[in-house]
Amino acid sequence: MKRILVTGGAGFLGSHLCERLLRGGHEVICVDNFYTGRRSNIINLLKKSSFEMMRHDVCFPLYVEVDEIYNLACPASPVHYQFDPVQTTKTSVHGAINMLGLAKRVKAKIFQASTSEVYGDPRVHPQPETYWGHVNPIGYRSCYDEGKRCAETLFFDYLRQHKLRIKVARIFNTYGPKMHPNDGRVVSNFIMQALEGKPITVYGDGNQSRSFCYVDDLIDGFVRFMNSGDELTGPVNLGNPVEFTILELAEKVIKLTRSKSRIIYNPLPYDDPVQRQPDITTAKKELKWRPKVQLEDGLKETIRYFKKIVAAK
Ligand code: NAD
Ligand code: UDP
Repeated sequence: MKRILVTGGAGFLGSHLCERLLRGGHEVICVDNFYTGRRSNIINLLKKSSFEMMRHDVCFPLYVEVDEIYNLACPASPVHYQFDPVQTTKTSVHGAINMLGLAKRVKAKIFQASTSEVYGDPRVHPQPETYWGHVNPIGYRSCYDEGKRCAETLFFDYLRQHKLRIKVARIFNTYGPKMHPNDGRVVSNFIMQALEGKPITVYGDGNQSRSFCYVDDLIDGFVRFMNSGDELTGPVNLGNPVEFTILELAEKVIKLTRSKSRIIYNPLPYDDPVQRQPDITTAKKELKWRPKVQLEDGLKETIRYFKKIVAAK
């Protein structure tokens, strides 16, 4: 049994990860400042004696004794990370420095939730980990993209300089139950709009593409990566390589919810990447990992979750 710290543990991915680690028999300390996370995501865990919740901002040092750290704290939806861009960069950079400092002091293994956004609007498709990316350093998405890139730099400098055991995962678009209904990301937006009979807001012409990974598959990838040999530092892409256009996603959601909502076209946000698809050769070879859940099956589970939220409104 290990004692494991999960930062951002009350968020979408963090709460699934806490559940998974508790099921594995570990002790979990969840740290979150509730910027986008919610108590309802972890309410069922609070009664477990092996689970501890700390309200804390990772921009400030933290003193706990742990064996492993999963560093997930950071808003992930463009709407939320652009709301307070300075805080977003601080969370990624100061958060990484504080968590790496903690890992160094207690000799913990540390996992970083990095992102496909480090590839920016990619000129190489699909994106392998060797691609350095095509990122605007001064745009609206830069607080997130460059913050995450700087965090990766810090992780690799701590590896070289302090011999830390690091695991850097580059996560591609992931969806599933426990996403915030007002999260602003495409899957939650479309499902909520379809269930409430509101227009489905496709940005641009809807021909931009994304590859959507179901949350259970992703969390399985996290744990496999953390438990892999110390020589596998990453970065490792984790995501589902099956690519869809945003318009195809809208049509699937309308079909699965049997909604009467119609599609409307809104302006495309600045620097919105045109396409994105992970090359997961490394994860397949080194972690024996590949996503199993098809988009339709994952969407059905997610729709079930959002239906309960709409019913409770
Ligand atoms: P989320 O917004 O649901 O969760 C982020 C959590 O971090 C929230 O609980 C929030 O309150 C907490 N947080 C934010 N700032 C904090 C701070 N300063 N101190 C402490 N806690 C703080 O997002 P998510 O989808 O669960 O993403 C989790 C991580 O995975 C993020 O680091 C994100 O960048 C990364 N990621 C997610 C995706 C995805 O598709 N979900 C894709 C790429 C990367
Ligand atoms: N998008 C959309 N309608 C929405 C929300 C998002 O068409 O209501 C588009 C967005 O422009 C982007 C894609 O869906 O091209 C994925 O957006 P999301 O915010 O989920 O994540 P991103 O991959 O851009 O970080």
